[in-house]
Formats: sequence, structure tokens, C-alpha cells
Amino acid sequence: MLSLKPSVLFSLDKIASRAIAIAGPVFILIAVVLISLAVITYYSVVFPYAFVWDKDYIWSKVNYYLGLIWSIYLTVCIAFHYYMSITTKPGGILIGGTGDPNDDPVLHDIFVELEEYQEFPKTCKKCHLPKPERAHHCSVCKRCVLRFDHHCPWIANCVGHYNHRYFLLFMTYLTIACAYFTILGWQPFLLSLEFDSEWEWWMPRPYVALTFLLAVSIGVALGGMCLWHYYLVVSAQTTVEFYNNRYAKSEAKRRGEAFVNPYSFGIVNNFKQFFNVGSNYPIYTIFLPIPIPPSGNGKVWQKNATQRYSTVQVDEYSEDDE
Ligand SMILES: [Zn+2]
Ligand SMILES: [Zn+2]
Repeated sequence: MLSLKPSVLFSLDKIASRAIAIAGPVFILIAVVLISLAVITYYSVVFPYAFVWDKDYIWSKVNYYLGLIWSIYLTVCIAFHYYMSITTKPGGILIGGTGDPNDDPVLHDIFVELEEYQEFPKTCKKCHLPKPERAHHCSVCKRCVLRFDHHCPWIANCVGHYNHRYFLLFMTYLTIACAYFTILGWQPFLLSLEFDSEWEWWMPRPYVALTFLLAVSIGVALGGMCLWHYYLVVSAQTTVEFYNNRYAKSEAKRRGEAFVNPYSFGIVNNFKQFFNVGSNYPIYTIFLPIPIPPSGNGKVWQKNATQRYSTVQVDEYSEDDE
């Protein structure tokens, strides 16, 4: 059996991280090209096929306009949340005095922050900065990220405290769009395969067939990822924490104790806290393509004091590097 020395594995890991960092813009370009292909196919073939404009029939016009409004709404939501996922900094350890993660900190802010961090006992082994709870070091970005979830090559960015909401809404709207495209595009797809039938659209048949197959496969994969992230949201965990908590659960069980996630306040509250709706912003903002910041600064987290914790501490096994 092939076995690699830890040092070899470590350098392979470093090469992979470097490759992901360099290939960032390529991934974004691929995503933009694929989404654009789907959008063009939709508006030039699928939409005209599904929504027929009949000037003598009022309901066909109403149907046409409703379809058009819905289609534009979905397109805007996908574009907005994708743009925001890419351009919003996920939240570094040192943030400027304005509290906006996109502002670079000045020296004064750094000293103030470091002073504040006296209360955090942990320090990152990689970047040597104080490490707040729920923060993790990203080996691709080479820095610690607040409430780090994972590094996503498709946005060439970390998914963290400040952009996780945009990232999840991007995936949600794209999954809905894929499902919608699959339902409406089914007939045009079948037509595109009947090469002896008449083809009235300017877009070549293979593009329509390809877009349909992409929508189905990407929709299934994204839908699965979406469900996974919603599970994490309602259970108040990040991807990193899920694995840590799984270990903590089994360890607590071995000791005859019950493990309680200290950041969880129940399904509804966890959902509200993640999307920052309920007290700060109205719930309907989830359905709007508008910028909404996360709740809290991502460094200090409220913990569930009513629960009794097990003696298993996440710090006992949590790795610095993710
Ligand atoms: Zn770090
Ligand atoms: Zn990263």
C-alpha cells in the first residue's frame, strides 16, 4: 500500500493550497461563463417556449409578465449574492475602527484590537495573531478568518462571518433556479434531441441540451450542499465545528456525559441569528437582494448559559490549521 511521509503530505497540502489560491479567478470565470450560458439559454429558448404572448388573451399577457418578473428576480438574486460572496471580506482578525471588514485597519486600530484580545488565550500557530473563538486559519488565504466555515474556490474567498449569509443565499437561489430551469426546460431539451424536428431558435441545439444537463447536475449537487448548510445553520455549527463537535460528542459519550453545543439556542433562534433577522432586520430581507451585515462582530459569541456543558473542551483536539 502506498504510504506517504507526513512531510510529503504537508508539502502536497501546501502545493494544493497554493494552486487553489492561484486558480481563484479561473474558477470564478468558469462559474460566470456557465451561469451566463444558462441565463442566455433561458431567456432566448426556455422562456419564450414556456410563456407565449398572445395579444388577444389577457391571461397569457398576465402570465407572461409574472414569468418575466420572477425570472428577472431570480437572475438578480443570483448575481447579487454571488457578487457579494466574492467581494465581501469574510472577516479577518484585525478589522478597522469602522467595524467594516472591507476597511483596512490603521495602526491605531491594530493596537486597540490587540489590547482587546488579551482576553483570548489562544494564538494562531500560523499567523501568530490572537485567535477568537470560532476563528480558524485558512491555509489558502494564509490568515485567520472569523467564524471560518471553509475556503470556497468558486468564490475565490473564504466563507466566514461576514459573507456566509450571501454565500448560502447564492446557493439557495441558484438551486431554485436550477430546479425551475429543469422543469421549464424539459420540453425544449427533448426537442433539441429530435434532430429531424423543426428548430425555431437561434441558439444551436447542443447548447440547449448542454445547459439543461448542467442545470440538472449542478442543481442536484448544489441542492445537497444547500441542505447541508441549512442543517449547519439551524444547529449553529460551521463545517469545521461539525467535525469537532462530532468528536466531542463521542468523547463525551465515552465519559458518560452529554455534549451541548454552546452556540446553539434552538432551531428558530439559530436561523434568525445566522440571517440576522427577527430583531435587527425583518425576515423578508432574506428574499431581497440587499446587503445585510451579520449579527455581532464575529469575535465574541453569546453562549448558552442555561445548559450544563460536558467536561470535553473543543480546544483539547481542535486543530489550528484548516
Ligand atoms: Zn492564523
Ligand atoms: Zn480562504
